[in-house]
Amino acid sequence: MSEDVASRLADLSEEIAGAARGVGRDPEEVTLIAVSKTFGAEEIRPVLDAGQRHFGENRVQEAQGKWPGLREDFPDLTLHLIGPLQSNKAKEAVALFDVIHTVDRPKIARALAVEMAKQGKRIPLFVQVNTGEEQQKAGVAPAEAGALLSVCRDELGLEVAGLMCIPPVDEEPAIHFAFLAKLAGELGLSGLSMGMSGDFTTAVELGATHIRVGSAIFGGRGGS
Ligand SMILES: *Cc1c(COP(=O)(O)O)cnc(C)c1O
Repeated sequence: MSEDVASRLADLSEEIAGAARGVGRDPEEVTLIAVSKTFGAEEIRPVLDAGQRHFGENRVQEAQGKWPGLREDFPDLTLHLIGPLQSNKAKEAVALFDVIHTVDRPKIARALAVEMAKQGKRIPLFVQVNTGEEQQKAGVAPAEAGALLSVCRDELGLEVAGLMCIPPVDEEPAIHFAFLAKLAGELGLSGLSMGMSGDFTTAVELGATHIRVGSAIFGGRGGS
């Protein structure tokens, strides 16, 4: 079973490298985040055994149940929060995660700054941008991204690694990836968290530095 995981990871890394080289990028610039939401520690462990070290979770509480134990055995892993964050969960998020991809309003940035100071941690952040300007979707409006970046960096002294987006399901992701890359360039940010199982090669071609891949590694998640 873990051989399956190892070969899936090897295939993925070849696809990533192919996409990167195709546009003249160094594959080393791309970090593969294995999105393990809904999967338990016993399903995650073989992926760790196969050598994968970056993982993504979308719920703080769910992650708290499985990652402290896994981290004891794999202290060199990096855990990314890729789901929406409420400010009342900032304490737990700062304690558990190494990177947070979903900062989308000043209130969250402030709560994270307070907790990082209290816990003596400095966690790189991504600003999530609602590139499709969808009504109920998380993310700052593109026109507000610069102002939020300035709150994070200038006012709060936080480390912003880049921008993150989740394109609308019914639209061509390439348009959103290209838009996010352009916006990051304008803001002087180098990190781009974009691309999932169905579109990560496109994302890599358009400059992704962090791709978030779940089902292509772990298999389907049933209902969702
Ligand atoms: C679930 C999730 C992913 C991974 O999606 P797959 O299609 O399974 O690769 C990536 N990003 C975010 C924000 C997610 O919630």
